Amino acid sequence: MALVVQKYGGSSVGDARSVKRVAKRIAEAKRAGNDVVVVVSAMGDTTDELLDLAQQITPLPPKRELDILLTAGERISMSLLAMAITNLGVKAKSYTGQQAGLITDAVHGRARIVDVVPHRIRETLNKGQVAIVAGFQGVTQSTNDVTTLGRGGSDTTAVALAAGLDADVCEIYTDVDGVFTADPRIVPNARKIEWASYEEMLELAACGAKVLALRSVEYARRYNVPIHVRSSFSAHDGTRVSSEDMKPQKLKESTMEAAIISGVAHDRSESKITVVDVPDVPGSASRIFEVVARTGANIDMIVQNVSAASTGLTDISFTLPGSDGPATMAALTAVQAELGFDSLQFDDQIGKLSLVGAGMKSHPGVSARLFAALRDAGINIEMISTSEIRISVVTRADSLDDAVRAVHTAFGLDGADGEAVVYAGTGR
Ligand code: ADP
Ligand code: ASP
Ligand code: MG
Repeated sequence: MALVVQKYGGSSVGDARSVKRVAKRIAEAKRAGNDVVVVVSAMGDTTDELLDLAQQITPLPPKRELDILLTAGERISMSLLAMAITNLGVKAKSYTGQQAGLITDAVHGRARIVDVVPHRIRETLNKGQVAIVAGFQGVTQSTNDVTTLGRGGSDTTAVALAAGLDADVCEIYTDVDGVFTADPRIVPNARKIEWASYEEMLELAACGAKVLALRSVEYARRYNVPIHVRSSFSAHDGTRVSSEDMKPQKLKESTMEAAIISGVAHDRSESKITVVDVPDVPGSASRIFEVVARTGANIDMIVQNVSAASTGLTDISFTLPGSDGPATMAALTAVQAELGFDSLQFDDQIGKLSLVGAGMKSHPGVSARLFAALRDAGINIEMISTSEIRISVVTRADSLDDAVRAVHTAFGLDGADGEAVVYAGTGR
């Protein structure tokens, strides 16, 4: 008998019919003799709708209250799912993150899981029942307040429970058949990746492949939790994500011609701030990024221009999550006189494309090929950054889709037309 943690994303439980469909799948897994723990996200785009609602009340809602509001989405889906499973003659009980023992730090809106004490979940399993857990939420011990784990956080709930319960596998059910070489919504002939190492998946997730939340992959790597990403709408085998030593034998044997590139990721959620005409003297950059760091924004790429010899002034541009833009602009504006720069520019019309692949380390010429592909597609590159297994470029947001397709083709990643099916969801 296996212990299985299954996570169903919002797109898999978009309406009452889908909740019943998913319930059938869960009941089957239970009837096949498994112990089953289910993590569920809010229905469809509920979380976005709740955020929109809060925005209509105030542009900067208190973070504690926003967390209470958002956790309501998962409470709706968890209880409906428990009802639907019970209706099928299988006993099921739903639990909030707090009841399930997901303890987090106190950072509202992007809390980190610090402990998992799933006593009630174990009791439920011992009684032969299915346990349903609300994703994306926990409780902080310091104040006993509810917290949320950041967008896409139900993936992290699922992996953390799988680790805490020592589950055999963590299955992530979504609206595509697995992890593809690019987002199936943009590249319909993307290829399904059969297996990815934690490292490759981390890089893809960090670069915007939202099929798995970044923190869930970090957690899985730390606790060595094997993940299976698959569709809740089909019976196809999906993508396995695990440590290198669990790589399937047949893939090990074909390492000779193994792909250099695992995929092309894209991200539209970042913005760019340019600090114009900063005095090019020691300490300028240090002071700018001190101020930015205090806002809590995570900086991604940084570019500093060559300073004009005649003026001794330079421009510094950096990218950051778009949602951190307003607070960061305000913080920099407050120190304009002290830093002596001329002005600030805010640009939320950028897109980031990242080419990811462990084989890149040992293959020269990857950047040249990437830049040639973008040139041939007539796409201008605004910023570039690299790591050992990744190259990222910033383009205009409205040419990002074309850029992804051009690069996907240039690296020979295209598969058969229509291989990458999108079963549901709005892609929001
Ligand atoms: P869920 O509601 O199940 O949590 P998400 O919307 O968070 O689903 O994630 C699934 C979506 O991730 C897919 O519909 C797809 O558009 C997007 N996606 C982005 N990059 C990839 C990729 N490389 N492979 C598969 N899906 C991807
Ligand atoms: N409902 C949350 C979100 O939309 C968590 C999740 O779906 O994983 O981000
Ligand atoms: Mg998700």
